[in-house]
Amino acid sequence: MIILDLFPSSGITYICKKMSRYLETSIEYLKGVGPVKGDLLKKEKSIFTFEDLLFDFPFRYVDKTKTIKISNIRSGFDPVLIKGQLIALHKKSAGRRKRLHGILDDESGQIELVWFQGVSFIEKSLHVGGSYMCYGKVSYHQGKKSIAHPELERIESDSNQIRGQLSPVYSTTEKLNQRGLNSKGLIRLKKNLISNLSSHDLPDPVPLYILDRLKLISKYDAHRIIHFPQNQKELDAAIKRIKFDEFFFMQLRLWKRYQSRKNIISYSFDKIGNLFNDFYGDKLPFELTAAQKRVVKEIRKDIGSGRQMNRLLQGDVGSGKTIVALLTILIAADNGFQSCLMAPTEILANQHYTGLVELLEGTNIQLALLTGSIKGSRRKKILADLKSGVLTFIVGTHALIEDPVIFHRLGLAITDEQHRFGVQQRAKLWKKANPYPPHILVMTATPIPRTLAMTVYGDLDVSIIDELPPGRKKVMTYVIRDRKRGQMIEFIKKEIEKGRQIYIVYPLIEESEKLDLANLDQGYEYLLSQLPRPQYQISIVHGRMKAQDKELEMNQFVSGRSQILVATTVIEVGVNVPNASVMIIENAERFGLSQLHQLRGRVGRGNEQAYCILMAGNKLSKEGKERLRVMCETNDGFKIAEADLKLRGPGDIEGLRQSGELALNLANPISDQDMLESTRNIVQMILNDDENLEKSINKRLRNYLIKTKEKFRWSFIG
Ligand code: ADP
Ligand code: MG
Repeated sequence: MIILDLFPSSGITYICKKMSRYLETSIEYLKGVGPVKGDLLKKEKSIFTFEDLLFDFPFRYVDKTKTIKISNIRSGFDPVLIKGQLIALHKKSAGRRKRLHGILDDESGQIELVWFQGVSFIEKSLHVGGSYMCYGKVSYHQGKKSIAHPELERIESDSNQIRGQLSPVYSTTEKLNQRGLNSKGLIRLKKNLISNLSSHDLPDPVPLYILDRLKLISKYDAHRIIHFPQNQKELDAAIKRIKFDEFFFMQLRLWKRYQSRKNIISYSFDKIGNLFNDFYGDKLPFELTAAQKRVVKEIRKDIGSGRQMNRLLQGDVGSGKTIVALLTILIAADNGFQSCLMAPTEILANQHYTGLVELLEGTNIQLALLTGSIKGSRRKKILADLKSGVLTFIVGTHALIEDPVIFHRLGLAITDEQHRFGVQQRAKLWKKANPYPPHILVMTATPIPRTLAMTVYGDLDVSIIDELPPGRKKVMTYVIRDRKRGQMIEFIKKEIEKGRQIYIVYPLIEESEKLDLANLDQGYEYLLSQLPRPQYQISIVHGRMKAQDKELEMNQFVSGRSQILVATTVIEVGVNVPNASVMIIENAERFGLSQLHQLRGRVGRGNEQAYCILMAGNKLSKEGKERLRVMCETNDGFKIAEADLKLRGPGDIEGLRQSGELALNLANPISDQDMLESTRNIVQMILNDDENLEKSINKRLRNYLIKTKEKFRWSFIG
């Protein structure tokens, strides 16, 4: 029947080589796919079209030149590649389950091959007596070597075919496997796909002069080679080109967005008046570090320009971001504008408020605190003063963006601690300023490398305080395993004897809040039993407590009446008690690196030597161990952030995850940082020279952007 024959599963190839739509063809029309496998590919791997299959890159390669003799295999060599002959194959039944056993011989020795799944299918596909390349993990049972579910590939008599080749390995799933779409099955599909692919199907969007300059191969070549490279050199060139594309188009888009941002009109704070000068001259309790001075200059330039400032201020914990924020607020005030400073938690907002009130004592600056727990007439008064302009600035939580909060003349909005606004929140805040949006300063204590920051926060300028105020002591950091908990108690006693105070922090993970609280309770009981009253006083604070109780316990500690504060991470971004010089973190392996660093930053602000004790389980994952090692090794927030990014991968950076446009597949903003930087420079060069890509040398690029406008929302090109 002719109609049936139209289905590719019956062997008819759907070729549309001449059509540029080749890559848009639905995947079931590829030779070897058909409706059933097509559905599976869609469901299991999100491969809908030929193009999706082309962009499904191998996740590793097997170098077929690097085989090992069976007799030379030792434990720790895994995985291995063996070239040998399949000399036996037979099924065994163990109850209802069938197993397949094979023996591979390479003259130096023999190794057993075992399959537990897909037994019949595999048995049929193998030939006893045939030569095979065999790849897999070796396990050892009673001195016998075996490989379970090896990847086998028949070697044809023409051995030239194999020599020097890298064989791709694709990720697959159980369900695909069952349909014959294991890595080898996928290789067959890629071959079918690529044998009909022409350069016409994959025109190069990157201008020739850029390709020449960076010695990049064509897009078409790169996408062929990445699947079937002849050698490492070829593969490297393909990977380089594909990574470049990923960075290039991402940067192009970000840069354009940044440029349009740059042109938003806002208030010009060009006056430096008495408020700033008096404070800077008389009140400032210390000299600014060089880094702080530089950043203040950068900010002044922004806010005096008549364009909106959108600046990210990065600085390690304790590097002195608050004072920079305050100086900016004073400039705004000198120019007749109000400011707001928004913090993610009540405790932090409180801390900021108290600290700022202290700094501003004896000045004319009026400030207030607004959080969810300030209610009634107090709240009314604050709102009225804000609206009438009595208040110079306001510190608060999310409460600040609520509708009843009306400013007299908002000109500057500052947010603290990796607190990125959602789009809607941002819009709300912007609308509180009239007629122009306020200047924006975002402060974060989890620094990331500059170029990466410009990627993640693509629409922000970046300032970095890369220097701590003088006289800071390194916090000595140690790991104590649970089984040696007694050491911790001894240490606590010694420090309390010296008059120090101590934080003990427990992790809080939302999904298992109950468990965590039990943990906290248990720990608290244990401490009480080891450090009895009245000699030792212990405060406890956690998220389930009433605000009043929290405050009470907190005050006990702040005033020095208790020597130990046991808490969940509520204190992470808050409290500043100079006499507290020891930070003990329970279940430290459960915290992320940046969180550990933040917590540690709470101590070491006084004159005493400070300590951080990381309590860790007796059994640790490799990554957990590595995090603790990094913590003991360095106090530098930038180094820690980089280690963090390396451990977790960039996919976990908040901004990267949120901005879905960052379609990075091969390129990694951390390990390919150099390339990210050079690509960024190229993008700037192109756009500086030809802002709207109108020159003929950029025609390919322009055409591509227009063609993919829908898909990528290229806003700037008509
Ligand atoms: P963070 O960047 O973590 O927000 P803070 O602004 O809270 O840091 O500053 C930490 C401490 O360092 C504060 O007690 C602050 O007064 C002090 N500090 C800030 N800048 C300096 C400086 N240049 N010299 C001395 N101390 C400073
Ligand atoms: Mg701070």
